[in-house]
Amino acid sequence: MQKIIWEVQYLSPPLAVRYCKKCGKKSEYICSRLFRVNAQRKYLDIWLIYKCSHCDTTWNATVYSRIKPQSLSPELLEQFYTNDSKLVEQYAMDIELLRRNGAEAGLPSYRITGDEICIGKPTELHIICKYSCQLKISTILREKLYLSQKTFTQMLACGQIKSSPGLDLKKCKLHSEVVLTRGSDTGHPAKEKY
Ligand SMILES: [Zn+2]
Repeated sequence: MQKIIWEVQYLSPPLAVRYCKKCGKKSEYICSRLFRVNAQRKYLDIWLIYKCSHCDTTWNATVYSRIKPQSLSPELLEQFYTNDSKLVEQYAMDIELLRRNGAEAGLPSYRITGDEICIGKPTELHIICKYSCQLKISTILREKLYLSQKTFTQMLACGQIKSSPGLDLKKCKLHSEVVLTRGSDTGHPAKEKY
């Protein structure tokens, strides 16, 4: 059995989708990759700043609210003050942070890397993503295998693509890793367009 690994890589942080007062409608906010730290004597507030992609209105997503300054290490606090790129990435890629702040996470731009599946060979396919992925597994499979919705549904129905039990491959989103298997049939060559 050939083992193939695909990785979904984000090319940008997810957009924050929320209502913009100035635009008067739902808008996509882009992560500025900057923190804002407000330190008062007793409390500390830290936000990650987003900007409306249409009108540049700023929106602050709360990272920490009214915490005691001593609850963060001086090193970590310094990283917030200096917009340390790794720390920015950690928060900007966290879709739960957006949800906690009342925004939806928009789909980031992405690419799928990994070898093509060799037609006719039984395959164990691992699809991985470093971040909690917004993408449906079906989208990844169809995009990388050039499958129409109809063909994909047929392949699922006759068991040509299988996942671990209980996973609905039509609806399920990718969470860090999924392992799929593909039979050795040649009835539906993976790369052929339908
Ligand atoms: Zn706006």
